Amino acid sequence: MEPISFSLSSVPAADISSADIDEFNVFVRRSLADPMGWPAHGYLFIEKKGASPRHVSIALSPMSVFSDAGMEGFSFYDPSRAEIHINVSNWRGASPASRDGLYPDIWRYRLYMINHEMGHHLGHLNGSRIDHFIPADERLPAGSRCPVMTQQTRGTAWCRGLEANPYPIAEDLLVIGHPSSKQMRGGASSMSGSSLILLLIIGLLLLLGLMWLGQNIWKRLGYGGFRAEMSHHEVSHAPYFSLTRGTTLL
Ligand SMILES: [Zn+2]
Repeated sequence: MEPISFSLSSVPAADISSADIDEFNVFVRRSLADPMGWPAHGYLFIEKKGASPRHVSIALSPMSVFSDAGMEGFSFYDPSRAEIHINVSNWRGASPASRDGLYPDIWRYRLYMINHEMGHHLGHLNGSRIDHFIPADERLPAGSRCPVMTQQTRGTAWCRGLEANPYPIAEDLLVIGHPSSKQMRGGASSMSGSSLILLLIIGLLLLLGLMWLGQNIWKRLGYGGFRAEMSHHEVSHAPYFSLTRGTTLL
């Protein structure tokens, strides 16, 4: 899988010191390299400047950013700019998730914020089958961990008793077009892309063979030849998901 490049773009503000930024940067680097995080699902992150197609910038952002965006209380991902903004107040433990004890350890909640917003960058989208606000217990058995893409900042409501969880799990992959999500959907009968193409080619050859045979039988019966009109089918490849420019995903 193509590495995802990222840059750390926090700037000091009235409510963010350069020491905060240093701590944040170390934490983000560790989170993205954590073998239990997105790397467990094949993602590789490389820190560099510049604009590769899947580049994302990540910042600890002051409260003014969230009030300007109408996103008070949340961190968010801005897909039009490929920017992750982590809410400095939540970073310090002010979210209901921290206050209400869903995440008693601040580092685990910080990890949730990073992995959740990175999940948006990797392709998770509101409105897909699995969404922030589909109660986790409707799709996972008791005792499961809550998907990292389930909204956990606002407290326990959407985890519905499932264990608070800062790491992406198999359920999270269903929404992001990850190769392994197809295997989970299709189970043992699932088919890789290359074997599907092979099957299509075999099917086409069989069809052509049958047409040739049919034409010859037709001729032998004295009806003359016929021209097979091959119709041209326009296949539209609608993208699996598309992000609306300017949409913010909390
Ligand atoms: Zn979200």
